[in-house]
Amino acid sequence: MPTYLKKPDAVDKSIASDDEVKAVVSDVIADIRANGDAAVRKYSEKFDKWSPKSFRLSHAQIEEIVAGVPEQVIKDIEFVQTQVRNFATKQRESITDFEVETLPGVTLGQKNVPVQAVGAYIPGGRYPLTASAHMTIVTAKVAGVPRVAACTPPIRGEIPAATIAAMAMAGADEIYLLGGVQAVAALTVGTETIAPVNLLAGPGNAYVAEAKRTLFGEVGIDLFAGPTEILVIADDGADPFVVAVDLLSQAEHGPDSPAVLVTTSETVARRAIEHIDQILVDMPTRDMAEPAWRNHGEVVVTDTLDEAFAVADSYASEHVQVLTANPRQALEKMKNFGALFLGEGTCVSYGDKVIGTNHVLPTRGSARFTGGLWVGKYLKTVTYQEVTNTESSALLGELCGRAARVELFEGHARSGDVRAAKYGDAKLAW
Ligand code: NAD
Repeated sequence: MPTYLKKPDAVDKSIASDDEVKAVVSDVIADIRANGDAAVRKYSEKFDKWSPKSFRLSHAQIEEIVAGVPEQVIKDIEFVQTQVRNFATKQRESITDFEVETLPGVTLGQKNVPVQAVGAYIPGGRYPLTASAHMTIVTAKVAGVPRVAACTPPIRGEIPAATIAAMAMAGADEIYLLGGVQAVAALTVGTETIAPVNLLAGPGNAYVAEAKRTLFGEVGIDLFAGPTEILVIADDGADPFVVAVDLLSQAEHGPDSPAVLVTTSETVARRAIEHIDQILVDMPTRDMAEPAWRNHGEVVVTDTLDEAFAVADSYASEHVQVLTANPRQALEKMKNFGALFLGEGTCVSYGDKVIGTNHVLPTRGSARFTGGLWVGKYLKTVTYQEVTNTESSALLGELCGRAARVELFEGHARSGDVRAAKYGDAKLAW
């Protein structure tokens, strides 16, 4: 039986409840639907104190911003975008179009068509999440999306220059300095100045994730990619200091980011907790990491590694760091996770910032039914069919007539009857 050395607080009153978030999101969407740009401006002023002449950056503005970004930062963005592009390209190659002949002259086919207009959300309320530009935009471009409208909020009234550079370098076709629900809603319903998109992608805080969830159906979404989560699986050989550092690396995303340790070793657990307390004392992002850890941190001790994998599976965490002697066991045994980080040589921060797999990943248990953002999320797998053999069409027509009448669909049946009569021996009975 797993033992809980640390449980989260029952209710964290410091963050908005789901109902509060839902209410704000629904009001903002309704207002933008009714009042377009004027409402977008109202909420940008209210939530971000940001009301420029135009939310869309001109080419000249983008060039000026990019020119001010240090050369090393530009080189690093290039490096990471290459890693993301290489992995996404390999993924694209794994998705195939095909045709199969199932009966003489009966061809069934599958084709993957890029979504034609994508809204890429790059978060920026607390930190300028430059890497999200690589993840959302580069991947969309590898998929062949012709129009990528990308948006990111100003950060405390400032333009996030490196993020804008990354958005431009990734190939965004439109760049808006606009964030939160107002950006997501504007890109979905369209305004006087922002054309609507077909699909919204990208991570965000609880408001952004809820806005995407609410608007799903009217617009496609990649997945529910809300506040970041980490779960570390450690055995008795794991370094408690590394465990502690890795847990806090994700807790610093925000006060609503859960960090969970599942370990077979009570000693590792207790030492990791001590390290966390020590590191937090002078951690520059303590204001985020400490409430996240105190209110949402958990430590679970299990009897066996198999039990640890089962407990981890039940969390369906966004990120799972595996610090065990044989980390590849997790790949075999675990079913519910956004991304796995196998062994001490890698870490969630590599995935977040540099290594090349996509960092837009499912949260709040949605890893039970989806993986993270990838090229396939930007493609529509459509099917088609053609029958060039009249005998096959007549055969299918007779079958269709019978099958449709079982379902009481006389109109469907007649489409089959017509072909059975035209291409075969059947007589129309109506
Ligand atoms: P953000 O861009 O997601 O949100 C900032 C916006 O939220 C602001 O522009 C503002 O308009 C809006 N907002 C803030 N307070 C509000 C309020 N009270 N009412 C209405 N709107 C409000 O940036 P962030 O806040 O820094 O959050 C980024 C999030 O993205 C973090 O939670 C992080 O964990 C998450 N993230 C998730 C993934 C993933 O794949 N799941 C990846 C990276 C980041």
